[in-house]
Amino acid sequence: MQMKKIVSCGAVLARTLPLLLALVAPSVSASNRDFSACLDRLRTQAAQRGISKAAFDTHVAQMEPDLSVLESLDAQPEFKTPIWDYLAALVDEERVGDGLAMLEQWRDVLQRAEERFGVDPATVVSVWGVESNFGRSLGKRPLLVSLGTLACMGRRQDYFRGEFFAALKIIDDGHIAAERLTGSWAGAFGQTQFMPSTFLRLAVDFDGDGRRDLVDSVPDSLASTANFLQRGGWKSGESWGFEVKLPPGFDASVAGRRNKQPMSVWIGRGVKRANGEPLPADGLGRALLLPAGKDGPAFLVGKNFDVIYGYNAAESYALAIAHLSDRLRGGEGFRTPWPTDDPGISRAERRELQRLLIARGHDIGEADGMIGTRTRRAIAQEQKNLGVEPNGRAGLRILEALRSMAGN
Ligand code: CA
Repeated sequence: MQMKKIVSCGAVLARTLPLLLALVAPSVSASNRDFSACLDRLRTQAAQRGISKAAFDTHVAQMEPDLSVLESLDAQPEFKTPIWDYLAALVDEERVGDGLAMLEQWRDVLQRAEERFGVDPATVVSVWGVESNFGRSLGKRPLLVSLGTLACMGRRQDYFRGEFFAALKIIDDGHIAAERLTGSWAGAFGQTQFMPSTFLRLAVDFDGDGRRDLVDSVPDSLASTANFLQRGGWKSGESWGFEVKLPPGFDASVAGRRNKQPMSVWIGRGVKRANGEPLPADGLGRALLLPAGKDGPAFLVGKNFDVIYGYNAAESYALAIAHLSDRLRGGEGFRTPWPTDDPGISRAERRELQRLLIARGHDIGEADGMIGTRTRRAIAQEQKNLGVEPNGRAGLRILEALRSMAGN
């Protein structure tokens, strides 16, 4: 009936086009209408928060939602990454080399940041290296689109609304241009991968141009990272912790980042430092971390490990940052190997693995060292051919198998 009316009256077609679309694809159109209505509400609320109408109308008013961020929001990880895979890629020789070069290149800025915030250069550079590969991986999604979508759709709208307004405020205040403000689907952006609200609280202008720019200013980024850590309770001059060795028959139930005990307790339990040095008798509380159970590397970690953890709320990432900082200070790898007979591989080895897969005819895109769905699928295929469990994991064993098949 309505369709007939539209068809018979061409003059109103333009005005009723949305209705026509609604008949063709009711759910998409309804959600677009809801999105427009949501943006209207956000416009009012943005004004109440002191964000200029001009900024909203320029950067948001015509926005289309990006529904793919909702898939990311609800995605269940299909593949649980072992800690040794994280560490192998996050703290490889390439990142240690890059980190040392960055320490040299930004020495003066890092020294000034240490004077002001009390956080040492190696720690700051390690956060930078793990969060954005020293500013090379910033994330490509337009931040306002991701956050605008998440503010209007999905299951965490209140939280993302706050981040959306914060992102708009960053633009409106002239710190970062809208087109430079890209990031992860969830809104972390820039060289430090701050959320917009974290930016508003903690970003600092350290190159003195009056703008806090975590996308294009390395000094601002390094100093903001140092400020984040200082405000998180960083203790100047204290180490994050160190690797230890446990005695045979150790009761692993005392492990856990929150169970801090004085050193006398750990000494009493027979814990020793992995490098043979005596445990520090400094009275500080430390917790035992067993990232892969008691048969893997063990660590005693202090307050500064918690501060690093505050950056990303994952022990694997905090350990990567902590370990990278040790490597940048000339420290070695862990003494105790990870409890696996198929160790993780570096980014150089991941690229090699991908080149071998491509040479065998797998369509996995470029050999960029990023292990995505297509690479995993190709690995699983090869594992199946080899008669081993097709788990799709990029480890040393499949790399060596492909090497030998290629005659390398
Ligand atoms: Ca600046």
